[in-house]
Amino acid sequence: MRLTHRRAVLRLAEPFTISRSTSVEEEVLWVELAHDGVSGCGEAEPQDHYGETVDGAEAFLDQAAGLLGDDPFALEAIGRRLAELPGNQAAKSALDAALHDLCGKLVGQPVWRLLGLERGGPPTSWTIWLGDPDDMARRAETVDPRFRRLKLKLGGRDGLDVERVRAVRGVTDLPLQVDVNEYWDVDEALEAVPELAALGVQYVEQPLSAGDPEGSRLRNESPLPIFVDEDCHTLRDVRGCAERSHGIVIKLAKSGGIREAVRMAQAARALGLGVMLGCMIESGLGIAAACQIGSLCDHLDLDGNLLLAEDPWPGIDFADGVQLPSEQPGLGVHEAVSGAR
Ligand SMILES: [Mg+2]
Repeated sequence: MRLTHRRAVLRLAEPFTISRSTSVEEEVLWVELAHDGVSGCGEAEPQDHYGETVDGAEAFLDQAAGLLGDDPFALEAIGRRLAELPGNQAAKSALDAALHDLCGKLVGQPVWRLLGLERGGPPTSWTIWLGDPDDMARRAETVDPRFRRLKLKLGGRDGLDVERVRAVRGVTDLPLQVDVNEYWDVDEALEAVPELAALGVQYVEQPLSAGDPEGSRLRNESPLPIFVDEDCHTLRDVRGCAERSHGIVIKLAKSGGIREAVRMAQAARALGLGVMLGCMIESGLGIAAACQIGSLCDHLDLDGNLLLAEDPWPGIDFADGVQLPSEQPGLGVHEAVSGAR
């Protein structure tokens, strides 16, 4: 297999703010694996929050090229060889996606069928990024009516997080989910969560810092399900998450790809945990990999490509609030001719 990669910039339709950062664009890597005249593609968005960089991902991919071998179906063996190289989960995820895309194209089947899964899943949430309560309510009012769930980014560090939810609840009856991105301590959480429950919030994502020793206390006392994201990266984290949450948030950029994500979802079920699948700011190429396994999850937050000014990799069908993977072979997305540069 021959591996090539190139940089691209994804431009957001509007600036995206969470508790720790604001983004207007994201630099990503597009990976292509060629084998027997067929190409598979994948996308990496290295996560600076986890110490990853685009430069580092490029260096990793150059090293990884020599470890892939010549059998794209040998996913387990390739995964073991890549595991020898530390970190770079986003780049590993791009390789995993490209391998799945390639395998699907070689046998003429969409990836979700190769995995024995159904084409579908719960509706994706639409993210209302962090702002003042009135501003968030105004944005919630103008959401595309096809969305059937809203995810509110909280963690304003100004005592107004419950007000943010109340303001949004005042303008919509849609199910609400909140993501605090690690910005509460346990006392703030125990005070806020009952109020959020009264406002009809479905669950609270990552209220505490990753590894916060009060996690199990919050889990036991919270009237709402707690889902953990920054606490849960790969399969080895899932067991510990059962002590401090009711559910895990899987993202391919953390897990290193579809294969590990499926293992995580199965382990979570064995431990009685809920499963949410989330995304970073990604084009349709990244989202296409995630939505192949949407049917394994209770909640999906796969709006990454819909936040872009223009999706450079169209092919996902956004139907009745659900991000449906294509019925074409592989990941089923193709680079738009105009490109995204
Ligand atoms: Mg999150």
